[in-house]
Amino acid sequence: MSDYNWCHNPSCHTIETQSRVRGSGDNKVLRTRKISLSNEYIRDSIHAYFCNQNCLHSFLNKFKDEVANLNPTPKPKETPIKVKKEKYESYRYNWNSNERQPYMATRTTIVSGNNE
Ligand SMILES: [Zn+2]
Repeated sequence: MSDYNWCHNPSCHTIETQSRVRGSGDNKVLRTRKISLSNEYIRDSIHAYFCNQNCLHSFLNKFKDEVANLNPTPKPKETPIKVKKEKYESYRYNWNSNERQPYMATRTTIVSGNNE
């Protein structure tokens, strides 16, 4: 395994920054950025393939249909859950009488789902 990747944004080498300038004299070029994989967080994340957010999102915009087709989603998925509804006393402001007025509000809480 090599200890670096080249940025996968096909336009990385066209972005004008000092960090991309390589070569000497009149033979200068803008080069695709190299990404060090020495950091575990980088290795285990999307940033192993893209040098920054701009390159990641340029890639995603350019290949949006291909990326979406990696995981076709023709219909929504559902996660079974249990919901707890409870009534509690809350207050709302009455602008006519300029005072807080109590009322019974309802709080809905998901008590179990996918990650119970
Ligand atoms: Zn890049």
